[in-house]
Amino acid sequence: MLVAVALPVAVPRAYVYAVPEPLRARVVPGSRVVVPLGARTLIGIVTAIDVPSPAKGKLRDIVSAPDADAALSAPLLALGRWMSRYYAAPPGIVLRAMLPVALTGAAVPVAPIKRQRVARIAKTLESLLERDTLFKRAPKQRALYELLESLGASHPARALVVQAGVTAAVLTQLVTRGLVRIEQAPIARDPFATRAIAAARTLVPTDAQRNAIAQLIALPPGQGALLRGVTGSGKTLVYIEYLRDVIEKRDQGAIVLVPEIALTPQTVDRFRTAFGDRVAVLHSALSDGERFDEWASISRGEKRIVVGARSAIFAPVHRLGAIVVDEEHEATYKQGDSPRYHARDLARVRAVAEQATFVLGSASPSLESWTQAQRGELLLLELPERAGGAQLPTVHVIDRRKESAATRAAVVRTGTTTTLQGTSFGHAITPALEKALAERLARREQSILLLNRRGYAHFMQCGDCGFVSQCPNCAIALTYHRTPERLACHYCGHREAPPAHCPNCGGPPMRERGLGTQQLERLLTERWPEARIARMDMDTTGAKWAHATILDRVGSGEVDILLGTQMIAKGLDFPNVTLVGVIDADVGINLPDFRASERCFQLLSQVAGRAGRGAKGGEVFIQTREPTHHAVTCAVTHDYLRFAGEELEGRSRPAYPPMLFLANAVISGTEEIATGDAARAVADWTRRLIHTRMPGAVEVVGAAPCPVERIKQRWRWHFLVKSADTDALGRIGRYIVEHGPVPSTAGMRLAWDRDPVTLL
Ligand code: ADP
Ligand code: ZN
Repeated sequence: MLVAVALPVAVPRAYVYAVPEPLRARVVPGSRVVVPLGARTLIGIVTAIDVPSPAKGKLRDIVSAPDADAALSAPLLALGRWMSRYYAAPPGIVLRAMLPVALTGAAVPVAPIKRQRVARIAKTLESLLERDTLFKRAPKQRALYELLESLGASHPARALVVQAGVTAAVLTQLVTRGLVRIEQAPIARDPFATRAIAAARTLVPTDAQRNAIAQLIALPPGQGALLRGVTGSGKTLVYIEYLRDVIEKRDQGAIVLVPEIALTPQTVDRFRTAFGDRVAVLHSALSDGERFDEWASISRGEKRIVVGARSAIFAPVHRLGAIVVDEEHEATYKQGDSPRYHARDLARVRAVAEQATFVLGSASPSLESWTQAQRGELLLLELPERAGGAQLPTVHVIDRRKESAATRAAVVRTGTTTTLQGTSFGHAITPALEKALAERLARREQSILLLNRRGYAHFMQCGDCGFVSQCPNCAIALTYHRTPERLACHYCGHREAPPAHCPNCGGPPMRERGLGTQQLERLLTERWPEARIARMDMDTTGAKWAHATILDRVGSGEVDILLGTQMIAKGLDFPNVTLVGVIDADVGINLPDFRASERCFQLLSQVAGRAGRGAKGGEVFIQTREPTHHAVTCAVTHDYLRFAGEELEGRSRPAYPPMLFLANAVISGTEEIATGDAARAVADWTRRLIHTRMPGAVEVVGAAPCPVERIKQRWRWHFLVKSADTDALGRIGRYIVEHGPVPSTAGMRLAWDRDPVTLL
């Protein structure tokens, strides 16, 4: 028998192997097999059996088939096939991404799937009397014994000894004396299990929630809904009640996707409170072994609900009944490396294939999902008001153009570039926001400050009128480069000299923008030395559980001001937060990306949504130099409909998604000039290909340098491929990936990113 095996190598097709007689029963579609490839031994997945013999080449035998059952079910294998075609990604790379690392690691021998980790569990025998006599000369034994009791009379032996700070001999003595018994028991290592579960609060659904729950329960299999609920409207309760029906009434399983578990411990806690140990939590901070344990218990059908980030969409849930995608607009659902899939889009594909229902939830849906709901492809459900009587916060806009005259003294000219000479408190935080913060500190209420400062993509802005130079062809902000000094478009390559004075108002020299979270923290500490300040950004959250630790401190009232990057904008629900300040709303608006406004609106809506979730109400201050930009004005009035309308109009000239489909082809290499030449050559080759094969159906824009021109010592260029025809775009992508004339010099590589969420 010959079988096709997908191997984790960048080759667009499966390999064919012969199956030795004794292995036949174990080799089925979806099984793991160990095979030779050249001099290497690799783990692959069987994609088809009884395949015809390829024309040439000598066939080799499969070495072993470690598992009694398939690692991937038929529907998941089909999902992998779909991904491979749609994203033009090698099948073996796709299938590897769908399984836990413990199963796909190159290390052989392979651990069999059906395996339970066993631990020695110490148990007390019965309640002990006369301890004073029993432990008279053995205080350590007594301490250990009583610790075990306090841990519920049963605890893993090793952890017990460690926790008691004694040697293993003490435990052995207790066992010898017959006071403690050791049992072998299967354990799963689940760090989330150590988080306390809050007592369930019984909430009575509002009318809007009740209606949404009923409509979700009534959704026919394979259908999806978009749940648009303002921040604090209680979307989580809707998901939970809908899943209760799926799990308890229909006896099916479910997947809940959240943008990042570390940032949403509260949401995870709510699911665990509702469904207890039927919930598996797939967390990026899990070790490979922990992840495997969760995967295995889902695969055995012990856990029915999977809560996890993007890759949880591949969880081997039995009888999948529903998929929830919370905060569906989040960019984190898109995988950055191959396979560059979008988990929200896979949710739809998987739900349709497995006849499950799906719900996408957000306060500010992606324009893609919004358009689908408008077309009736998704059922639109709305929660227009906050639950539990809370009101949406009042939002104040602080027009920073007005104070720039006051701070202009701090600006000096050096050569042709203007730079800020240090940054004063007043430069970062306007008097209005300062006053609001001081009030919160005095009233012992909490504040959140957002400063979404990323270290690249500087742009030039007029301090007086807020003007930002735009590309004449692409309708995106031009990026400021220092050496050589110029403004450049990162889509089409257009470039121009930076204007000496604002072209709009003729005012003062244009300014380069920038202020980071670290600096902001320092300014706050200097201003309010007594305030308890916590900073949350990439630099403070490196450690496992660092996010949860910071957020727990906020939740328990140990923090007065939480400041951070967009990390702090997501799903947090702290009733004592009554103030949200956005330091620099327009940083995001001018990133050279067609989604910049959408991202900015979503971020402002999300972060504003953290304020006033309790009875005390809330206020939001948005500091901006673009108070009239629709991303700002619509966020101020909580007006998603107007934002979506205006933004969609902007996406039609020139056309961007969701008006059509887009792919970003990135060519990178170690040499600057060669990379640019190669990118232009591949783009031209693609243009010619389209011209002869499918004229008019597909458009190519570029090549141009990527906004981030160099990452990890690799130069990056890109071109965009646009089409209204999704199949045509898929065909082009597969053809470019397989046949595109990418030179094999200078480490040159092509990455095809279909439905990109960022063009940086
Ligand atoms: P969203 O995800 O829509 O922003 P959440 O699900 O976080 O909102 O809910 C916001 C808050 O409202 C939570 O504290 C939640 O406990 C509370 N809540 C939700 N539904 C109700 C309800 N029906 N009655 C009272 N409080 C509710
Ligand atoms: Zn351009």
